[in-house]
Amino acid sequence: MPHPSLLIIEDEAAIRDMIRFALIPTGFTITEASNVHEAKQKLAEKLPDLILLDWMLPGTSGIDFAKKLKSDVAMCNIPLIMLTARAEEENKIRGLEIGADDYITKPFSPLELIARIKTVLRRGPLVSIEGIIQFHNLSLNINTQILIIENNAINLSPMEYKLLYFFMTHPERTYTREQLLDYVWGRNHYIDERTVDVQIRRLRHRLQPYDCDIYLKTMRGMGYQFTGKT
Ligand code: CA
Repeated sequence: MPHPSLLIIEDEAAIRDMIRFALIPTGFTITEASNVHEAKQKLAEKLPDLILLDWMLPGTSGIDFAKKLKSDVAMCNIPLIMLTARAEEENKIRGLEIGADDYITKPFSPLELIARIKTVLRRGPLVSIEGIIQFHNLSLNINTQILIIENNAINLSPMEYKLLYFFMTHPERTYTREQLLDYVWGRNHYIDERTVDVQIRRLRHRLQPYDCDIYLKTMRGMGYQFTGKT
């Protein structure tokens, strides 16, 4: 992928300009749309390698469009980054729930934007056509919820599956216990943060026979990170 193509869907021209300027040095090909209607036209012409989608759009909202993209067979594998305002904290969680690959909070720096885009593009298509998410030697089937490690099929509990699914789709980033509760257990949880530690321990125990528990790292004083870096 020498020059990935990006579609920016954002109604504020100033933010589109900022993103375009920030990305000039990367050589990405950029297409822009200021609303969902325009975005559909651009997508009909050419499918991009990545979509940047603003949460607040006139007419059809960004989140409704994100849902539509993620339920479309042709487009569900295009990595999607949501742009949210700081006041829309709840949105990040909902965005990740509907399948956005990442989010960036406004205002963001050009360097942060480029870093996030590169990380998401490196991950490749999140879910294969067969419904498999791959992370190094782990293959997670989202239809059967079975984990395969080197030809071994591992049945996970529903909670182990949810936690592993989150980590495999959000690697190389540290999450606090509170964030994990929000993202994995959901906003309306009334559970203790220690529950996170308990479930992490269980998941590690499942991965340990294959020496894969090393992916799930404790970040002292911060939280947890799923990483392929040793
Ligand atoms: Ca907007």
